[in-house]
Amino acid sequence: MMEKSFSDEMNFEAVKENYLEITENISNAMKKSGRTDKVRLMAVTKTVPPAKINYAVSLGATLLGENRVQEFLGKIDEYDKNSEIHFIGGLQNNKVKYIIDKVAMIHSVNSLKLAEEISKRAVGAGRIMDILLEVNIGLEESKSGVMPKDLPYLIDEAVKLDGIRLRGLMAIPPVDVDGSNRKYFAEMEKLFSEYKEQLNDSSNVMFDTLSMGMSKDYAEAVEFGSTIVRIGSSLFGYRK
Ligand SMILES: *Cc1c(COP(=O)(O)O)cnc(C)c1O
Repeated sequence: MMEKSFSDEMNFEAVKENYLEITENISNAMKKSGRTDKVRLMAVTKTVPPAKINYAVSLGATLLGENRVQEFLGKIDEYDKNSEIHFIGGLQNNKVKYIIDKVAMIHSVNSLKLAEEISKRAVGAGRIMDILLEVNIGLEESKSGVMPKDLPYLIDEAVKLDGIRLRGLMAIPPVDVDGSNRKYFAEMEKLFSEYKEQLNDSSNVMFDTLSMGMSKDYAEAVEFGSTIVRIGSSLFGYRK
């Protein structure tokens, strides 16, 4: 995969080439695994200037992923209004209020406390917030996300909350060693389909989203049922 250097920060032509390459790789991975449903490409915007983000939006990359509350708040006013914004980064409870009316989904819900705060703020804002539960599929001490064994409890409790709609799961698997990411993606696919079967759609549940796969492994993630791949550096270029 070509990675552009940071010095060509405003090299829009490269973004276009990357975008076309990524969309083609996604569609090839879908064919390979016989998928006929939809996979959404999310453009992950951290460190990327708004003009470049808007160029990606104009190409069709209308779904944006935000990691950092501060950086996001500083850029959002310049974003193309055709974009749909999801929050994907670590989120502290005391920051929820700043983004509650600015994003369409939060992928990084990793505790009941955070789910409760989102619920409270969503109710206050008179809206329903779509959420994904972040799973620590690699059982890594250093990573956030709920451990798979604690997922049933978190799901049971989250679906009771007002102002929240549970849309699915998200994961950031460990760095790939010798193709180990396939194992983690397979585990996520299994968890996702098990819960999808158990949970009935209701006003609080529409279990249709599996967010996994980044620049280096999105094609594999698509083979294992990902519905949103989150791509930063392969689209916008290398981040320092
Ligand atoms: C940065 C980031 C990505 C994208 O990473 P790349 O490897 O640059 O594609 C995806 N998901 C999350 C949660 C991120 O923080």
